[in-house]
Amino acid sequence: MSPSISEDCIVIGAGVAGLAAAAALASAGRRVLLLDKGRRPGGRLASRPFEQAAFDYGAQFFTVRSPAFRQLVETLTAAGIAVPWFEHEGQTRYCLPAGMNALPRRLAENRRIACEVTATALRREQRHWRIETAGGAIYTAAAVVLTPPVPQALALVDDLDIATHQELSAIAYHRCLAILAVVAGDSAIPPPGFLRLAHEPLQTLADNRQKGLGGAATGVTILAAPDFSLAHWEMPQEETARLLLAAAAPWLGSPVTHWRYHRWRYSQPVEAFPAPCYGLPGDPPLVLAGDAFGGPRVEGAYLSGLAAANWLLTR
Ligand SMILES: Cc1cc2nc3c(=O)[nH]c(=O)nc-3n(C[C@H](O)[C@H](O)[C@H](O)COP(=O)(O)OP(=O)(O)OC[C@H]3O[C@@H](n4cnc5c(N)ncnc54)[C@H](O)[C@@H]3O)c2cc1C
Repeated sequence: MSPSISEDCIVIGAGVAGLAAAAALASAGRRVLLLDKGRRPGGRLASRPFEQAAFDYGAQFFTVRSPAFRQLVETLTAAGIAVPWFEHEGQTRYCLPAGMNALPRRLAENRRIACEVTATALRREQRHWRIETAGGAIYTAAAVVLTPPVPQALALVDDLDIATHQELSAIAYHRCLAILAVVAGDSAIPPPGFLRLAHEPLQTLADNRQKGLGGAATGVTILAAPDFSLAHWEMPQEETARLLLAAAAPWLGSPVTHWRYHRWRYSQPVEAFPAPCYGLPGDPPLVLAGDAFGGPRVEGAYLSGLAAANWLLTR
């Protein structure tokens, strides 16, 4: 006897794309469960305290280009959750004084989410998907939205046809090494506290205190450029941190008292796939979403999640 189907839809990944998809499906009356391997929702919208300082160490800000995302951002700004940080090339860059992770936290309100659950395989059964997890639990759902970075998503599904597999495996991501540096006084990053650097090894520097994240000490997020990140991926972290801290020294302003290292294997897609989501043919339905489809930014992930929900609701 086949197991009873527990959910209308399971969304794997509670980053912005997964949360957007889940919200749209739930408001259409579907029973939805999100699974995420992380300790909390948010994925690459990552914030954390460290040694008296506060850090955003994934996405640093977001921009708004579409009416659908603007609608969300207007509710966030009206509630004081998001604020305009600065203008660049005619675009407002928004940040969240409680840290960028406050955006997925908000989207996660009223959602059913199981964190620290790693999906390990998706098997297509007659009327449903069977999802196996690292802890041994099995979930079943009539439909699945898959939002991990595409190489991780592909590793979960074992019966893709060769053409689909080839098309999706061409999606590549930049890597990004990040240093979370606590400095003893103020940083020397000029207002508004963000610099994009055109030369290796640095990509961006951000002063989280100027950004409004607070903390008794100043936290500077140092993001390395893609080529440097790839070339130094396997190097001992002390060595890489020394190089990045030395390159950032002119802007750190004060001695570094503590630092921490983070590696983003899938930081941002190199190019966006030319469709906002990727629905597989056949039943039961499965659709891939995320910034690889919607565009390499927070807004792109959000729109891709909405597109995936729409694909499921209208097929
Ligand atoms: C260093 C860095 C800087 C960035 N800067 C900016 C910026 O300034 N502005 C901007 O707009 N964008 C920026 N981005 C990009 C932005 O963060 C992403 O485009 C967006 O957050 C992607 O959301 P997503 O939902 O597609 O994917 P993710 O946020 O990666 O969500 C995928 C989720 O899937 C989960 N998952 C993966 N595998 C499994 C599994 N097997 N089982 C269960 N769960 C799983 C993960 O834990 C994760 O929570 C940056 C990204 C990085 C890393």
